[in-house]
Amino acid sequence: MAALYYRTVSLGVVLTLAGGLGAGFMLGAFLPRIVSARSERVVPYEEAVAGSTRGDANEGGSGQDGEIPLSEGTYDGPAFARSMPVDRKEDWIAWMREKGRGDSQAFMEERWALAGAFVQSGELKRTEDVRAFLLSPREHFVRAWNRGYEYADTWLPIGYGATITDPDVVAMMTTTLEIKPGEKVLEIGTGSGYQSAILSYLTTKVYTIEIIEPLFIETDRLYQDMEAAFPSYSVIKRRLGDGYYGWEKYAPFDKILVTCSIDHIPPPLLKQLKTGGVMVLPLGPPGRQYIMEVKKEASEDGSVTLRRRDVYNGISVKFIPFRNETGGSYSTFP
Ligand code: SAH
Repeated sequence: MAALYYRTVSLGVVLTLAGGLGAGFMLGAFLPRIVSARSERVVPYEEAVAGSTRGDANEGGSGQDGEIPLSEGTYDGPAFARSMPVDRKEDWIAWMREKGRGDSQAFMEERWALAGAFVQSGELKRTEDVRAFLLSPREHFVRAWNRGYEYADTWLPIGYGATITDPDVVAMMTTTLEIKPGEKVLEIGTGSGYQSAILSYLTTKVYTIEIIEPLFIETDRLYQDMEAAFPSYSVIKRRLGDGYYGWEKYAPFDKILVTCSIDHIPPPLLKQLKTGGVMVLPLGPPGRQYIMEVKKEASEDGSVTLRRRDVYNGISVKFIPFRNETGGSYSTFP
């Protein structure tokens, strides 16, 4: 509370000072943008997909663009997750041991505690999402230099300027999507692979795109190494490329999860989202985003609208930027 008060006061002071210096107009132009990003809004679909010169049909188009030739994994992660007891920690741990996945007692305890906290905070709403979270060993996706912080509720660097997202934000984005088994889910920004590992217990159709080649290769190897003990990872289709253009070959998607930040919703992703589908993305200027849920809805007259909602209701988060192939940012905001 004290911190909030301080921030409110200091913003007022800054505005007064800036106004006095004649910069009030600039800040005034900045603020409505932030405020409007917070509120719930209905956006006309045509307006959102029109007028973009930043690519439509192009499916990535990069020379380095590549897809790992995977066998079509058919392992039923959601069914496996449903067979897991989640009422008592002791029963859950006994079941995990029986499955021979090698999770340590200490990490299981930490994971259980974190899941419980997220249920209470509302960041894990459905039992399916709690199950997927409990089945996903974050310790394998956090890098060696962050040992000891595997279950700290914070983002951590994974090299190449990328991060593994905070576990609570991962939980919140996942639970917001309300994924049903069999739905096609596209993730933009594979990063460490942790998010898609969770998705593989919610549906058998997971697609993920990463733009940084060495990171893409590292994560692909990790999935391959883990597949014997974690067979649901075999359904994760991964691709090296620019996720701004989505993955036309497998479109349309029921759900799209964007894990890099941008100041607008990429039109190609909107087009590849099914009507009735949901996208979750960190929307906002560099350094400050709001997690938006975007629902693509059909009206009675057949027109399509987008209903968007800030899932944290005004609390901002910080994601690494959505980059293009030359490393530049897709955001036009300075
Ligand atoms: N989901 C990841 C989060 C990684 S951070 C995890 O849980 O670990 C965001 C990721 O988005 C980074 O790995 C970054 O390289 C990637 N990224 C940025 N721009 C991208 C783009 N245009 N296409 C695909 N991935 C992109």
